[in-house]
Amino acid sequence: MNTAELPAREAMEFDVVVVGAGPAGLAAAIRVKQLAPDTSVVVVEKGSEVGAHILSGAVIDPIGLDALLPDWRNEETFVKTAVTDDRFYVLGPSGALRLPNLLLPPLLSNHGNFIVSLGDVCRYLAQKAEALGVEIYPGFAAAEVLYENDAVAGIATGDMGIGKDGHHKPGFARGMELRGKYTVFAEGARGSLTKALIARYGLAQHSEPQKFGLGLKELWQVTPDKHRPGLVQHTAGWPLDNGTGGGSFIYHYGDNLVAAGFVVHLNYTNPYLSPFEEFQRFKTHPLMRDTFAGGTRLCYGARAIGEGGWQSVPRVAFPGGVLAGCGAGFLNVPRIKGSHNAVLSGMLAAEHIATALGEGRANDELAGYEAAWRSSAIGRDLRPVRNVKPLWSKFGTLMGFALAGLDMWTNTIGLSLFGTLRHGKPDYATLKPAASCKPIAYLKPDGKLTFDRLSSVYLSNTNHEEDQPVHLLVRDPALQKSSEHDVYAGPSARYCPAGVYEWVEEGGKPRFVINAQNCVHCKTCDIKDPNQNITWVPPEGGGGPNYPNM
Ligand SMILES: Cc1cc2nc3c(=O)[nH]c(=O)nc-3n(C[C@H](O)[C@H](O)[C@H](O)COP(=O)(O)OP(=O)(O)OC[C@H]3O[C@@H](n4cnc5c(N)ncnc54)[C@H](O)[C@@H]3O)c2cc1C
Ligand code: SF4
Repeated sequence: MNTAELPAREAMEFDVVVVGAGPAGLAAAIRVKQLAPDTSVVVVEKGSEVGAHILSGAVIDPIGLDALLPDWRNEETFVKTAVTDDRFYVLGPSGALRLPNLLLPPLLSNHGNFIVSLGDVCRYLAQKAEALGVEIYPGFAAAEVLYENDAVAGIATGDMGIGKDGHHKPGFARGMELRGKYTVFAEGARGSLTKALIARYGLAQHSEPQKFGLGLKELWQVTPDKHRPGLVQHTAGWPLDNGTGGGSFIYHYGDNLVAAGFVVHLNYTNPYLSPFEEFQRFKTHPLMRDTFAGGTRLCYGARAIGEGGWQSVPRVAFPGGVLAGCGAGFLNVPRIKGSHNAVLSGMLAAEHIATALGEGRANDELAGYEAAWRSSAIGRDLRPVRNVKPLWSKFGTLMGFALAGLDMWTNTIGLSLFGTLRHGKPDYATLKPAASCKPIAYLKPDGKLTFDRLSSVYLSNTNHEEDQPVHLLVRDPALQKSSEHDVYAGPSARYCPAGVYEWVEEGGKPRFVINAQNCVHCKTCDIKDPNQNITWVPPEGGGGPNYPNM
């Protein structure tokens, strides 16, 4: 059946439609209702419940929550452990050099911050939103942007009940149209609709390419003697070589919980590199391994983060809609923090929406939001660190870090040595042909400290309806073979943290296999495929990971 023959979709009208129940989307919904209680607000979330697709560190800077819900600290909320000890190490293969806190620019300090599960924070925000009358629909992916007169007029959720080969199964149901006077796109890093909007309205024409990292995380319950509640520890260096950006985080909080994670910058050049295996290797470092001995790994997941910062943020307002949170690129790279700016940007967008609705406006461009963010707390957070990522990429970890530290210090007093540096190539264009790179030998997992991908994905509770069209679209299969496989030696099999992609030999020929049901929605393939030949689109709503508390 082609689209013209399909039954019409039902439509519902709202003042404000929000895509994504992360901190940005929920903060936007709450703030609109705080300012204009009679406004109708709906939030759609592709995860099976709020929080199911949220993966973060997370050490949160409370500036956002303090502004949104000033009483949150006094309430019985999610588990929050105040940071008491803040450490930064540069690792070598067997040693570690701790940088004195006094050397680190004050903006990197975690004093006054809290260690939390961001998924739990989102569940708390969702309760607050619903108490204010916001309608939240988990299990529904926004699959299409609706336009009227070239302005955004809302979104449509995906059709349900389509089989792998496109046929309509017995339970087939068309998606819903959720029409709004303003739509907030808060899809997080590399949002699929956000990507389409950036292309349609040329939002990134005057900004630097967005840069990304892949963040992997395991949640551990460690033995009580290993637990240091309030300890926040970051590392750079080993196991990555000096030319590959990234680092680790270890946060001790709650009931003997340790959030352990590793970020690899996606402008790495060697197609043989595997971010997943680097993370496993990191845990074997003498500084680290003891923390996990005798402990239990509870959960695993992965998610891309936006690293371009200040100079990569596209235009965030366009007719009828706005971008907020990490979808706009508001993450602070050296702090590895974005949730505070997600909340602040959701609030800022909501304030401009409430004003516009109060003036009887609809579906126009909220130019005030665009103009406001750079001089707001978000801009003040991002501007001083804008050269960290370009310096790191250009000079490598050791020299890049030293220069970035100097630049952050001088920016703290309002000076900059470098102006605003450019990022250079987008991440998909940085891989070198495999013939010029060395394969990397990774460890065999021991099943206690280090693991393989499939047993890890199992701990993400990922689930997709199997009989549905593959949501990882390969535009040109021949190009995948001639370039991704023949030139780059199939990096998708290594960068995908969930083992979705495989090149298998069949009758002497390589065949590209996509195990779409394992996808944890990290979006790395959409970012790193060297030919931009893979596009991630939302699968049926409710599919994907089911993170309990990531
Ligand atoms: C490994 C890692 C560690 C991090 N550590 C920290 C930290 O310690 N502190 C910190 O402050 N920040 C940290 N961050 C960053 C932080 O997680 C983000 O800045 C924050 O989550 C961004 O919030 P958001 O609302 O913009 O997007 P997200 O949190 O990504 O939420 C987006 C939501 O939208 C939903 N969605 C997306 N597309 C659609 C669609 N089409 N239809 C319906 N729903 C959709 C998603 O399922 C998701 O629930 C970390 C990130 C990672 C990956
Ligand atoms: S298929 Fe793509 S989005 Fe899914 S887990 Fe793998 S790299 Fe991430």
